[in-house]
Amino acid sequence: MNMINLYSDTQSTPTPAMRQAMAQAQVGDEQAGLDPTVDALCEKVAALLGKSRALFLPSGTMCNAIAILVHCRPGDEIIAHETSHIINYEGGGPAALAGALIRPLTGERGQFAADDVRGAVRPKSRYHPTSRLVCVEQTANLGGGSIWPLARIEEVAQAAREAGLILHMDGARLMNAAVASEVSAAEFAKPFDSVWIDLSKGLGCPIGGVLAGDDAFIEAAWQWKQRLGGAMRQAGIIAAAGVYALDHHVGRLREDHANARLFAELVSVHPSLEIAPDDIDTNIVFLDYRPAKSGTEAVAARALANGLRIGATNASRFRAVTHIDVGEAEVRAAAEIFRDTLDAFV
Ligand SMILES: *Cc1c(COP(=O)(O)O)cnc(C)c1O
Repeated sequence: MNMINLYSDTQSTPTPAMRQAMAQAQVGDEQAGLDPTVDALCEKVAALLGKSRALFLPSGTMCNAIAILVHCRPGDEIIAHETSHIINYEGGGPAALAGALIRPLTGERGQFAADDVRGAVRPKSRYHPTSRLVCVEQTANLGGGSIWPLARIEEVAQAAREAGLILHMDGARLMNAAVASEVSAAEFAKPFDSVWIDLSKGLGCPIGGVLAGDDAFIEAAWQWKQRLGGAMRQAGIIAAAGVYALDHHVGRLREDHANARLFAELVSVHPSLEIAPDDIDTNIVFLDYRPAKSGTEAVAARALANGLRIGATNASRFRAVTHIDVGEAEVRAAAEIFRDTLDAFV
């Protein structure tokens, strides 16, 4: 039997139809602005996010890095949730590349509130770092794929504006939020000076992220892309996957969300697990593991041997993520494997 992979939506693979679109893509020298497929992708994403221009980049991490490089000078401070990707998974990029500090905020499910921003803004003084940027992650990855409600985003944005701060959205899974909430990606993105979506998560592409903003922002971002070696050549081959995904893979995110809830429901009966079904907004499921005697690592290793790859986020928490390679039948099979695996540890 094939392995069922609930480890991450990053491990989804391109479909035959996507590969076909890639093989047939028109290409040119991207770096010189001559690749029509990259241009088509950027225009599509700019329109989707309600911004004037967009920039194709090799990864979401580079989208965050370049946005921060454009917005911040050394000694500036970024306000972000303590669980955010820019703090935990980008190799210290904001400090290493932009010389920026990050002020971590707390809050349920990876989200903070307008008052937290007001409380974190530094008074203007030569003693303090300069508060510069507020970063919101939609959906909040370590918040369990939680969706920031539009009202909360607008309140946070207003607090940031009042303090003269710039706003950046890490929209790695913004399309999941849009599909699940019936609020458009452009509405969520509206208050932000820069915003990006990842192509290689739920959208199922092999590579890439697209960063959007106004003309001046994209002009500055292009120079960083060039400097960092992110300017490419016949990149239409990979941009074609993005165009294809935006045409065919957005609506189907709904299935991932239903499958995440189904998986949670099917495994929640197990006495070793604690799950809050109301906390499953999108395609990420956190499963808290009760027995402390055997760590989650050991359980995940056994599950893998039994045909299921699942994440052990820490000693007491598993993470399961649904995506395009996992249909309802696989989710049902995965739940059975996981329950059986857990039984062996009680
Ligand atoms: C995956 C992810 C990133 C980084 O994207 P890559 O394409 O993997 O570089 C940034 N932010 C969040 C919230 C993510 O989940």
